[in-house]
Amino acid sequence: MRRTFSHYLPVNLIFGTGKAEVLGEEVARYGKRVMVVTGRGSTKKSGLLDRAKALLEKEGLEVTVFDEAEPNPLASTAMRGAAIAREKGCDVVVGLGGGSIMDCSKAVAFSACNEDPVFDYIYGTKKGSGALPLVLVPTTCGTGSEGNCFAVLTDDGTRDKKSLRDNAVIARASIVDPELMTTMPARVLASVGYDALCHCMEAYMSKICDPITEIIALEGIRLIGANLVKIYEEKKKGLTDLTVMDMDAWSAVCLASTYGGMVINQAGVTAPHGLEHPASGMRNITHGRGLAALTPVIYRRTIEAAPEKFAVISKCLGGRDEKDCVDVIEALLCRLDLRTTLSAEGVLAEDVEWMTQNAFKVSAAGLQNHPKVFTEEEVSRIYLEAL
Ligand SMILES: [Zn+2]
Repeated sequence: MRRTFSHYLPVNLIFGTGKAEVLGEEVARYGKRVMVVTGRGSTKKSGLLDRAKALLEKEGLEVTVFDEAEPNPLASTAMRGAAIAREKGCDVVVGLGGGSIMDCSKAVAFSACNEDPVFDYIYGTKKGSGALPLVLVPTTCGTGSEGNCFAVLTDDGTRDKKSLRDNAVIARASIVDPELMTTMPARVLASVGYDALCHCMEAYMSKICDPITEIIALEGIRLIGANLVKIYEEKKKGLTDLTVMDMDAWSAVCLASTYGGMVINQAGVTAPHGLEHPASGMRNITHGRGLAALTPVIYRRTIEAAPEKFAVISKCLGGRDEKDCVDVIEALLCRLDLRTTLSAEGVLAEDVEWMTQNAFKVSAAGLQNHPKVFTEEEVSRIYLEAL
């Protein structure tokens, strides 16, 4: 256990079914002219964007909508949003949507105050000075962006996918309302839920995990193990009636997802995320599906380096010990219809060399914090085996 650490996470987490109703009041604490960052699709279709606008306008706020956030958000998109925010004099930003949208909204809030290319700040060649205040409203339970200081972006030119890390983009408030998550398609739920599990497992395994983070990460693993398949099966059956759905299970997975975001804020991610980012940066694949392809291969090669941690994870997921941990994870992936390979997701054998080099460029810290430090050759072999 780490005996010296600092644990800093100043976000007001507002959690619970129906809590989206407080959006207007909450945002009004921080500004008068709000930019709502969202995507082109689901928040419009579900009516959530209109509902959010009405709640904000009811408090007398002036609303500008930036609806260009895309999956695996590009740095250029965030810069475009930030330019509009400056032009309109926005003084607060709301991120309304899934992980990509929240990350884009964080980068918009940051770039509104820091005009140079955002990757200059990501690579540390420039130092940021603040960001517009942010309020986040997740509509998927996976990324946990509502509980951390990261905004994962992709550089349009180099395809580097890397996090902006700045305490200025920790949300002032995050409104986590499980009801908003229930409209996700089953396939999306499976991949984001698995992402959340990976955040908790990776933080727990990280060499820099502190004792507070450890206990939260383990509870996150347990909650997902006990509830994710249950709500996935509800989605597959096509249930939409909230009075029939198991809202306790939905709440548990949503909470675990926020936990996942919080724990990686402290302990970072490790090898699975470290190797997934080059794959989704290069081929724009779905993050959770990339993780599903990589995790079993990576973990089989890691058990020896941390058997006691694999034993604990296995038990949290209903298994026995370190020996069955990967089997238990694979069984969970099967039940989520998430057994896949990198090639099935669109990665090519010829990408392996670039991804290997890129992993050591964009994920150096994560690879160092993994219980087993892999060489370049080992990373290549992992990619090839996961293809
Ligand atoms: Zn992730």
